[in-house]
Amino acid sequence: MEDYIRVSDISNYLKCPRKVYYTYQGYPPIMTVTPSYVAALITKEMAQYYAEVVTSEDKISSLQSLLDMSAQQVSIIYRDELAGIDPEVLSLATSEVRSHLEGIMNGIQTSVQAQGSDRMLDMLTSLDVECVLYSEKLHLSGSPDRLVMLDGCLIPSIIRTGKAPLSGAWKYDRLRLTALSILLEDNHDSAVMKGIVEYARYGIIREVSIRRADKRKVLALAGRVRKIRDGRLPERPDDAPCDYCGHIEHCQVTQTLASRFF
Ligand code: SF4
Repeated sequence: MEDYIRVSDISNYLKCPRKVYYTYQGYPPIMTVTPSYVAALITKEMAQYYAEVVTSEDKISSLQSLLDMSAQQVSIIYRDELAGIDPEVLSLATSEVRSHLEGIMNGIQTSVQAQGSDRMLDMLTSLDVECVLYSEKLHLSGSPDRLVMLDGCLIPSIIRTGKAPLSGAWKYDRLRLTALSILLEDNHDSAVMKGIVEYARYGIIREVSIRRADKRKVLALAGRVRKIRDGRLPERPDDAPCDYCGHIEHCQVTQTLASRFF
């Protein structure tokens, strides 16, 4: 499986193609463990159990319990990234998530009203099946956050911790779901017509249609990722999110070296 590219490479390509280059050159991103970063991890862990909130009579207490549990477990689950985390950072992260609990509860209630609680439970219940998907044909691999059974079909679901769009899903999330759907179709030999995106910080759970145009785009992006994996240093995009990038040190060195020769 070593020569397989990953769905996360395609996601990284969409943020900045150079991130893919540095990852394949063996430079892991240097991440600063800020309270907001840890808050995002805690929120993602809580979202794994939002089905419990749907069935709970007292949704805010249920969310508070999930927050307590996730805050306790986050440094075990993300041991590599959070080894030696400052307790103050964890405490600030927990407070940040606590300030979102009411918004999460309102989002879940709105989704239940729109979809019905049975459908919401289907959308939030992970099946006990292998979540790492491989396509021999495409030399592509990836893992959804959940695989769920909805309307008799197995579909992928992703949990996001950033802002939610007013409707639907961000293009970046749609393409990630599309890539995972292609993998699922290849693994289970059946059409995947939709996926689910959960915007966990807002308790928003949405169905997303899988479009043919997005499939074409994913296949084209996979080709570009392969070229980068094979050693091509891509241009730095004008809108690259360098301020928040864990590769900035390597990237500055590369730019300095390049400017010496050209
Ligand atoms: S520092 Fe900027 S250009 Fe370099 S990899 Fe990161 S986002 Fe891309």
